[in-house]
Amino acid sequence: MQVEVAAPSSARAVYAQRSTNTLQRVFRDHFNRFAGEYDQRYAKELGNSRIERISQVASRFIACGDYRQGVARIRCSNPDCHFEYFRPFSCRGFHLCPSCSQKRALLFAEYLDEQLLLALPHRQFVFTLPKALRVFLRYDQRLFGQISRLIFSLVTEFYSTASGRPITGAAVVAFQPFGDALRWNPHYHALILEGGFDPEGRFIRVPIHDTARLTQLLRQRTIGLFLELGLITEQFAETLLRWKHSGFSVDYSVLLEGGDHRARQALAQYAARAPLSLQKLTYDDAGAKVLYHTAYNPYLKQNTTLWDAVDFIAALTQFIPPWGVRYVHYFGLYASRCKARWDQWPHVAAVAPNGWKESHGEQASAEAVPNQTQTVPQRACRSAWAKLIIKVYEVDPLVCCRCGSAMTVIAVITDPPEVRKILRHLVKIGRAPPGLDPSLLN
Ligand SMILES: [Zn+2]
Ligand SMILES: [Zn+2]
Repeated sequence: MQVEVAAPSSARAVYAQRSTNTLQRVFRDHFNRFAGEYDQRYAKELGNSRIERISQVASRFIACGDYRQGVARIRCSNPDCHFEYFRPFSCRGFHLCPSCSQKRALLFAEYLDEQLLLALPHRQFVFTLPKALRVFLRYDQRLFGQISRLIFSLVTEFYSTASGRPITGAAVVAFQPFGDALRWNPHYHALILEGGFDPEGRFIRVPIHDTARLTQLLRQRTIGLFLELGLITEQFAETLLRWKHSGFSVDYSVLLEGGDHRARQALAQYAARAPLSLQKLTYDDAGAKVLYHTAYNPYLKQNTTLWDAVDFIAALTQFIPPWGVRYVHYFGLYASRCKARWDQWPHVAAVAPNGWKESHGEQASAEAVPNQTQTVPQRACRSAWAKLIIKVYEVDPLVCCRCGSAMTVIAVITDPPEVRKILRHLVKIGRAPPGLDPSLLN
């Protein structure tokens, strides 16, 4: 498995303003044709009545980073400098927009590492289902959460059985619908506490050595769930259970020690990553073709895939989840109901991540001794957003690139005539944002 780690930050570089990226150009040039042909060419395989949802995400994505949609005005706080610039808005179109997805993956990784994962060993599991069942994950929204729950309860039952006492575990399970080269390959990435707490509050570590039996159990339970939901017949269930190669697999090769923040963040980013990487994409606009580079696939004997632009859009937009569907689920001690009570369990609070301890240490003492003067705990600068922006853009936009003073957002402008006025002014003084066509401002 390859894990991509964010590039190290260099705080004083110049803020890199974005212009229209390759993927946006593909969508701008071909999305309308794709939408027009959807029902006839793609609906049967990719699902009926999905085009409305896809169109909404796509139109926001096409406008992502477009200055004409609105800007934030950011100014240096040093009165002798007052350097300023404008930044466009983002679409937050996760699962489609590479830059917004990357930001979200970083935010997720930061949350897991600083606010959620206990300072105890975790295992990363990857659960794969057989081809015959994968197709159901396109259409049946119940399955995302129910299979996640099944995975967690399987592992917890194993822990309790192995240690001979009831064990409270914890897990984050992320559904990922894609494989290499935009193929439909639904699977689950799970970060699972390697063991759990017994009723006396002791942490019992339970390593799993035998994945063969876990796979066997996963197979039986999953087939049982599909049967219960009426998705397959009893006859088909029996056939599936008889197959010599079950198609189910469990990989648990990655161990994460409690203190290994880098590995935890990298893995969390991997589990929440976007289906596509911009660096691997080439667009031939004259021929309306898209070329995508991938790792060498020995089965298909290729490391590139060439698409007609419209087919490429179909392949990519199949991963946009239906409305209101969550791909990440939290269980046991990580479920939000449980997490809200961590401060009542000293054995859990003792191994809580630093971000959680900092915010709750303050709260707890304020409640206990309301009239006493308190020393505010020295808090490391953990402004998650600022750190994320550094990681994404490799600069800190809140530090002035001229004098090093703090920069602040002084206005947010969304009124179209006002935005045009600002952009025309920037063009006039020779500071037009990259990729902006001045003729579009008239
Ligand atoms: Zn975006
Ligand atoms: Zn300055």
